[in-house]
Amino acid sequence: MALTGLEIYKQLPKTNCKDCGLPTCLAFAMKMATKQISLDACPHVTDEAKAALESASRPPIQLVVIGTDEAEVKIGNETQLYRHEERFHRQAGVAVRISDTLDDAALAQRAEAIARLKFERVGTQIAVNLVAVCNESGDAGKLAKAVTTASEKTGLACVVISAKAANLAKAADALSGKRPLLYISDPTEAEAAAKVAKDNSCPLGIRAESLEALAETSEKVAAAGVEEIMLDPGTEGLKATLEAMTTIRRLSLKNFRPFGYPMIAFTGGSDPNLQIVEASTYIAKYAGVLVTDVIEKWQILPALTTRQDIYIDPQKPVAVEPKLNSVGEVNGDSPVLVTTNFSLSYFSVEGEVESSRVPAYVLAVDTEGTSVLTAWASDKFNSETITKALKASGIEDSISHRKLIIPGFVAVLSAGIEDESGWEVLIGPKEASGIPNYLKKQWKA
Ligand code: SF4
Repeated sequence: MALTGLEIYKQLPKTNCKDCGLPTCLAFAMKMATKQISLDACPHVTDEAKAALESASRPPIQLVVIGTDEAEVKIGNETQLYRHEERFHRQAGVAVRISDTLDDAALAQRAEAIARLKFERVGTQIAVNLVAVCNESGDAGKLAKAVTTASEKTGLACVVISAKAANLAKAADALSGKRPLLYISDPTEAEAAAKVAKDNSCPLGIRAESLEALAETSEKVAAAGVEEIMLDPGTEGLKATLEAMTTIRRLSLKNFRPFGYPMIAFTGGSDPNLQIVEASTYIAKYAGVLVTDVIEKWQILPALTTRQDIYIDPQKPVAVEPKLNSVGEVNGDSPVLVTTNFSLSYFSVEGEVESSRVPAYVLAVDTEGTSVLTAWASDKFNSETITKALKASGIEDSISHRKLIIPGFVAVLSAGIEDESGWEVLIGPKEASGIPNYLKKQWKA
């Protein structure tokens, strides 16, 4: 939890020596409380005070690192219950499950399909970033072989799931140096699994049948020397899991140390639609790692979209650079469309222009990252701002016509734009999805 200035001040030497560049220790403490200066800037702080401050300012939820290098996934260090209070910081890892009972060809095929679960959305790539291998066979050799294939074929960090600590040891050995998340599904094996995790420097996922038992297991595993732990409340079904995960998050933010770790959640059941609902819900509240069986693109995309949206900073609009963009092989007769620089608006328009196969210019007007109607309502997308962007873009040197297509929702701006710019204004469709039909059937230079 964040410390107050006075709590920090109590630990400082209080000599006001100014060696930190500030006039007093109190000024230093106040700056440190607002994270404008770090403790290292005071050369006189004692080791005891340093330890006390570091322990007290430790994030309520431990950072957990799964995988290495490009496959590395960092989760935890969250500080809020509600995203709007600040933001959520570290995107949940999303893992698709593979069973070690599959034969070699089926296993490789599923791993390759997982590696293809990548999408482009609002200019950013979103993807499944973990692979989970489940020891359904109960056999250590099969698990070790399966994790090796899954790791090689996907290039992703692994979550290794087994009821036996000894089998996790064999899998950790097969993935030596790759820092998998070891998950022990049998609570009675948790302490043996803690030794495996410690010996292999891996994070450990634990589960228990109740929150009380989970707290006890977490303390035992931490006492065994495992610093990076993931918690599974062991519940089944959406309602019970949501309640348990919310309770854990609340308690962790109140510095209840046994729950001071990120959580792992599993979707269940055979209904893929319900699994999608579970996946999106758990990502929103408060899974650090989500494990699911769904593998079709239409199934996994909603979960990845939820993750992208939940982890965006709510205080910063998602914006693209306000400028003129060419989509396709444009020429002097190409249409010119205007929209705002809100990412979702811009990329919706760009995507529909692309799919129309009619090369076009798309002008993104600076509306501070707000959508068409919001920007219009707040007077950021008006005849003046559009005309200014149009003239500044230099488009008039590149095309032979003077026709501007505006979004149908702001048809009311057409007369003003025509007066200010001297361009003819064409009223485009209200929704971006209408653009291909409009460009193919109605556009004429
Ligand atoms: Fe106080 Fe340390 Fe700054 Fe000196 S260097 S004024 S002791 S905070």
